[in-house]
Amino acid sequence: MGGVREVDAVVVGAGFAGLYMLHRLRAGGWSAQGFEAGGGVGGTWYWNRYPGARCDVESVEYSYKFDEDLQQEWEWAERYASQPEILRYLEHVADRFDLRRDIQFDTRVESAHVDERANRWVVRTDDGATTSARFVIMATGCLSAANLPSLPGLDRFAGDVLHTGQWPHEQVDFTGRRVGVVGTGSSGIQSIPVIAEQAEALVVFQRTPNYSVPARNRRLDPDEVAAVKAGYAELREANQLMPTGFGSRTPMPVKPALEADEDERRREFEARWERGGFGFLAAFLDLTLDRAANDTAAEFVRDKIRATVKDPLLADRLAPTQVIGCKRLCIDTGYFETYNQAHVRLVDINVSPIVEVTGTGVRTSEGDISLDCLVFATGFDAMTGALLRMDIRGVGGQPLQEAWAAGPRTYLGLGVPGFPNLFVITGPGSPSVLTNMVVSIEHHVEWITDLLEHVRTTGVDRIEATSDAADEWVAYVNAIAGMTLFPTCNSWYLGANVPGKPRIFMPLPGFPPYVEHCAHVAANGYKGFALTASTG
Ligand code: FAD
Ligand code: NAP
Repeated sequence: MGGVREVDAVVVGAGFAGLYMLHRLRAGGWSAQGFEAGGGVGGTWYWNRYPGARCDVESVEYSYKFDEDLQQEWEWAERYASQPEILRYLEHVADRFDLRRDIQFDTRVESAHVDERANRWVVRTDDGATTSARFVIMATGCLSAANLPSLPGLDRFAGDVLHTGQWPHEQVDFTGRRVGVVGTGSSGIQSIPVIAEQAEALVVFQRTPNYSVPARNRRLDPDEVAAVKAGYAELREANQLMPTGFGSRTPMPVKPALEADEDERRREFEARWERGGFGFLAAFLDLTLDRAANDTAAEFVRDKIRATVKDPLLADRLAPTQVIGCKRLCIDTGYFETYNQAHVRLVDINVSPIVEVTGTGVRTSEGDISLDCLVFATGFDAMTGALLRMDIRGVGGQPLQEAWAAGPRTYLGLGVPGFPNLFVITGPGSPSVLTNMVVSIEHHVEWITDLLEHVRTTGVDRIEATSDAADEWVAYVNAIAGMTLFPTCNSWYLGANVPGKPRIFMPLPGFPPYVEHCAHVAANGYKGFALTASTG
């Protein structure tokens, strides 16, 4: 090929974030090149094709709001859309706004190095090409770097090995097969009931039991959709004011849990259990803030598990003990019921640890389990994984891995000191995964778009988060997180799921104050960023 392609901006990733970023760049008159490792658009919804995959924020809210015609014309079929439906939606968005022509698919960005003298980024891709850009925007996703545990002997296993986050495009048929699933987070809890419907035998390897609330998924009634569409602007606006960026249609909590008596609490939890979904954790004002309040919700769910799972010993093993909501709450369809089926078995790996994978299955401390297929629902190297798997080098050639050796250090989750003109969408230190991510993504894309416009009109050509601003920001995020119950368990929010990862609480709880903060920064000349104009 030869030559270096020159553009204003490189956008890495073509999920919800990359697509909207490309759209806004084009609208702003910037030339942009998108790169996407996958063979199509969709990001999360391109990769996570496992059986049962669907959103856990309701479809009518888990969608873009930036274009009125788009939100009016798209018809969501289910309360919680399935992966194929969300992928179709994102493909529709790509076509509708003619975005594919700016994206190079099946192309992984391997490195991005700043060239300080030219004030440009040199981006290298795995097709051997080089692109030079003024700005790099990482839309690489919080949950896109699969975490596959290095179990001894895994390479010897003769059966199929699958990861939920890298699911094959061809239909996987489990009929007549003995399947092992490792992991009981959201992906495991969604896929286990569906795999159980097909498999001859299903063995679930559980390290930590998880709380799950019924989804009560259903087809959407056209009248309900029409009502949402008639008031879409108001719904979107109301969601902007929610701490999580969604759920404004759910009844609001009115009091702390312990101010209600036992009967009232039970009634409230029961009503929300029947309604299904995340609204369960909004039953009272303090469920994510106060341990005693949280215990009341946790015990309610444990009671439900005991009432559902017929074998009391099994029910006990499936009953979580950590704070509810500390790990992301799961939303399921028939998860606990699955364990009443004779062909489904739970292996608690705290009681019977996995010793190794053999050619024909898994050897635990209690014996061999024969399997034809191993499904890893073991999650992601979240929030930092996709970034740190690239060779990103900033000022003085410093690798991002070195800059973040003690944990990610950003300002607003958007800018990184030492890495000028590079922006991260929903980076660590932003509300990201604690929100409806589409809402957070739209906010970041629009904030970055405004910043680029500011750069253009002021003649600034280098913008970099200052070290002091980043230090203060990291301390702020930790202080806010410390006021909640989030840091009390070993979650991926803390990096605790990946051996050796620094233990830092990465997302910032609370969307509306964050939005205010970002607006304040912009209104004050991008306070906390150093803006410089070259003289040459
Ligand atoms: P992604 O969709 O992850 O896209 C990032 C893209 O970047 C990927 O396609 C990846 O291939 C590409 N990429 C990464 N590195 C490189 C590289 N070096 N070179 C080239 N390309 C690269 N959030 C919610 O708010 N509600 C939900 O209901 C919800 N459900 C989820 C269900 C599942 C199964 C998962 C895994 C996540 C879910 N999430 C949910 C979070 C979800 O990740 C976000 O909602 C959203 O889809 C993220 O969009 P994104 O564009 O930021 O990142
Ligand atoms: P996850 O929540 O990190 O769960 C991974 C599971 O694998 C956990 O049970 C974990 O146990 C287990 N595990 C990890 N490493 C292991 C090992 N070495 N040995 C045994 N078990 C191991 O990952 P996920 O389920 O893919 O979900 C990640 C996030 O993606 C979710 O929290 C959510 O934000 C999003 N998501 C959403 C949905 C949805 O409902 N819309 C569906 C899927 C994913 P420990 O708990 O002990 O670490």
